[in-house]
Amino acid sequence: MEREKIKGLLEEALREELRVYPQQYEIPALSCTVFPVKGPRRFCLGVWQRESTPLFEGPLFSWQDPEKELFLLVYPFSWKNYLLLAQHLPYLRPVPFDNRPSFGCGDRLGMVSAAHLKALEKFPVFPVVAQQSPRELDKTHRTFSEVLLGAAWGVLESSYRGPFGADADHVKDEKHLLEARDLGYTMYTLDLSDEVDFGVFNLDEKTLLKRFDKLGTRAKEIFNLYRGKEWKLSPEVMVDFSEEKLLPVLLAYLPAIDRVEYFYALLSESVSSFDLEISLDEGPRETSPEAHFFVAEELHRRKIDFHSLAPRFPGRFEKGVEYVGDLEELTLSFQTHATIQKNLTGYRLSLHSGSDKFSVYSSFFRATGGIFHVKTSGTSWLSALETIMKSDPELFRSIYSIAYDTLEENLKAYSLSLDKADFPTGLEKVDDKHLPAFFFQDKVRQMLHIAYGPVLEALGDRLREVLFREEEKHYRKVSGNIEKHLAVLFGESK
Ligand SMILES: [Zn+2]
Repeated sequence: MEREKIKGLLEEALREELRVYPQQYEIPALSCTVFPVKGPRRFCLGVWQRESTPLFEGPLFSWQDPEKELFLLVYPFSWKNYLLLAQHLPYLRPVPFDNRPSFGCGDRLGMVSAAHLKALEKFPVFPVVAQQSPRELDKTHRTFSEVLLGAAWGVLESSYRGPFGADADHVKDEKHLLEARDLGYTMYTLDLSDEVDFGVFNLDEKTLLKRFDKLGTRAKEIFNLYRGKEWKLSPEVMVDFSEEKLLPVLLAYLPAIDRVEYFYALLSESVSSFDLEISLDEGPRETSPEAHFFVAEELHRRKIDFHSLAPRFPGRFEKGVEYVGDLEELTLSFQTHATIQKNLTGYRLSLHSGSDKFSVYSSFFRATGGIFHVKTSGTSWLSALETIMKSDPELFRSIYSIAYDTLEENLKAYSLSLDKADFPTGLEKVDDKHLPAFFFQDKVRQMLHIAYGPVLEALGDRLREVLFREEEKHYRKVSGNIEKHLAVLFGESK
């Protein structure tokens, strides 16, 4: 039966506009054929089957084709149905990294993984297409399972057959870690910003020594292991653990290392293979070579197999705009951290907030020699807003108003240098044709970037409807933008 006819039939039955995709997945063990069906707010599985008995849970529609003696059933793409389908289509499950560098794309709307995969598969990268932090989950009212479902849906919709990863990003607590673990996430980014005692770096020697005296035997033993040692890692990079350098690093980072050890044990007890990322990027202070070396070496000494480490680099990696800072200083820092990573081996250097940081990519690529992980997230949210700005300027004006009204609240979760006084209160006076020039101002992009929580809460349904209708344009924008990131990263841009 033709796709158009099926679409008409299903739209009438489910009373909404639908997309019926041409992809067909034969499942011999169940004697059925599955195809993706999507509405503005839901994913479904269309299934041609020989018997009328449901093969998946919760059928929404059932119909017998008189010509073929086949039954057509439609099921929600629920977690349970995903697990059942993945038993037969194993490429729907995320897997750990392969040897290629890895690139993560967050999908806050849960609707563009197919577009992400389309861009990522053109480059020699391992794609991570499920990537959300508890902070993002909270703001978007989504769950780890919904995020993974969105990524698996992208695989079905795009006919992608390669591997992909699922990153429980910036996890700080046990609850979220276990939740992601039990759902089958393959990458865990442990955010240690709350565990590192950055205050130590402001203490004088006397206070440091007092703090040292109070440490337990184990911590003192660790201190003795490293004390007075020097590692010359390259002509330029030397790690110096003279007492006065080692002490603050140990006092600051030891609690974080203990925390990683605890989390690692929780993961290892039930997962045999996973990627652990150590995230130091959100602290108030640049990660020193000594801090990087101490954390990585101490984790290795404890037989903790981590696969990626994100230092905090100099300068500012603000959201959705270019890098702010001294590029030469940054390049030097990339080289220093990459030198440590290449000496200690076993993990890749990770760059967070990689959205729109085109000016830093080539030096990052060169420094790491391709052993890296890069994360982007907000840039695809901005691609969605750009699509809306062009297709539905009125909706875009409403989105702007919400972003403006909630700016102070949104700034609590993201440290950006924005001031409400720099923005117009509304966009009524800005003509449609002048909206793009307005949208592409850095400050405006940043304000919209961090407003996804309240915007989705107030206008999520309308936004999804427009993007569903404009899917082709939206996907083209998202893929094109990620491709641009990768082309610059791999040095292919002209
Ligand atoms: Zn980060």
